[in-house]
Amino acid sequence: MDYDIIFVTGEVFFDHPLCGVAILKRILEKNGYKVGIIDMPRRSDDVKKLGKPKLFFGVSSGSIDSMVRNYTPLKKLRKSDKNLNYNESVPDRAVTVYSNWIKYNFKDSIIVIGGTEATLRRFVHYDYWDNKLRKPILFDSRADILVYGSAEKQILEIAERIKNKKDLKNIFGTCIISKELSKDFIELPSYDDVVNSKEKFCDMQNLFSNDKNLAQKIDNRYVLQYKNPVYTSKDLDDYYELPFTREVPKELRGFQFSVVTHRGCIGECNFCSLSLTQGNRIISRSEKSILKEIKNLTKFKYFKGNVDDLGGPSANMYGMDCTKCRTNSCINCNNLDRTNKRLINLLRKAREIKGIKKICIKSGIRYDLASPEYLMEVVLNHVYDNLKIAPEHVNKDVLRLMNKDKGNLKKFISDFNSLKSGKKLSFYFMTAHPGSGVKEAEELAEAIKNLKNAEAVQVFTPTPMTVSTCMYYTGMDPKTKKKVKIPYTYLEKKVQKRFVLKNINGK
Ligand code: SF4
Repeated sequence: MDYDIIFVTGEVFFDHPLCGVAILKRILEKNGYKVGIIDMPRRSDDVKKLGKPKLFFGVSSGSIDSMVRNYTPLKKLRKSDKNLNYNESVPDRAVTVYSNWIKYNFKDSIIVIGGTEATLRRFVHYDYWDNKLRKPILFDSRADILVYGSAEKQILEIAERIKNKKDLKNIFGTCIISKELSKDFIELPSYDDVVNSKEKFCDMQNLFSNDKNLAQKIDNRYVLQYKNPVYTSKDLDDYYELPFTREVPKELRGFQFSVVTHRGCIGECNFCSLSLTQGNRIISRSEKSILKEIKNLTKFKYFKGNVDDLGGPSANMYGMDCTKCRTNSCINCNNLDRTNKRLINLLRKAREIKGIKKICIKSGIRYDLASPEYLMEVVLNHVYDNLKIAPEHVNKDVLRLMNKDKGNLKKFISDFNSLKSGKKLSFYFMTAHPGSGVKEAEELAEAIKNLKNAEAVQVFTPTPMTVSTCMYYTGMDPKTKKKVKIPYTYLEKKVQKRFVLKNINGK
């Protein structure tokens, strides 16, 4: 078969709304394009197996950066971790490697890169694994255009343009390399600026946004970012209602009957990149569309009445859409509806659907945005035995540097206990974040001992483009430019990890 578009991806492909490439494939097919998939190619020849597409190759490492996937936060190869179901076939820097394989085999083909790895490496970035700054990934990969964040609108526009032999300039939600800079772009500090000055690196960090046209000079050219297109509830309804088969690989069976309620996160955690991938505003699907999808699940052969998960990046942000002032920070906005009413109504209606026995919520919950009514609704009806939350730390300075200092954990625990549900609360924590030394790790270890039920502790990984990674690289809080203590060495991180691990589950 001759394909119009071929996706080369670093993840196993499955026809399910949890697989980003599957959504793109379905949308393109709905619009008349023929789409082929090459998943997890192992060598250069593998990208030849479907021939050359008529329009373009779409390249992605999948939903996770290949370096995060291949290495632990202490930079050990994950394959040395016997507890992980690690698959060696994704190369380091997969987006660049796949793009170069394509260029080698099909010199004149057009390459579109996207997914998390491309999104978070679209400007000059600190690369933890090389311990140095790297140029935007468009330079290494030699791709023609980069799609950042959600890609549905961009990919259709790109396909249309290439089909009609038009150029790829001015497409919302994309980046290109250009020799010129027009005046409607905000200029970030250049590559030379940020290489020579950590203060300039902080200035660059403070300017990152998906909602602006941004430009960065790299030698004698520019990377141009066209601001993100507006995605609406209706768009999401249309995407998630596409006729997926929902066949999933064995390891994802626990999520086969999950339903996505919204995109985006207003949490603003400094170590997280979600605001630069899915955006810092919530876009909720309509209640009608979600209920229709749940009803539809009951028609699947293997469906036993249990919805595996109903949520998004943070389950209880459903309905927290910005409707009024469009300030930069929803979480700090007085107009934010913190009642969770819309979500509670949705849960009640979903439980009534014929053929539904249980609707589980496995997506994380932001405990500081959970109203008492919501907590009761969820604990009594939507968790099996364990509600998981991620306070991440207990030291107030570390929490401030994580931008997670607004919650009242003690009150939440007391509200949870007062429900006398017989269920447990369990906790996720992070150590070795900027601001965390041995003293702070000891404080966390002590808290973990008292809480008794820590689920996991991770060591902070400086992934590209986050505020915390900027702190790690520069040794400064980018907002204040004040010095921050950083655990840089392997030994410091290891010691902090040991401290807290020994107290997990009272061990
Ligand atoms: S709440 Fe979760 S998804 Fe949102 S910014 Fe924080 S860590 Fe990221």
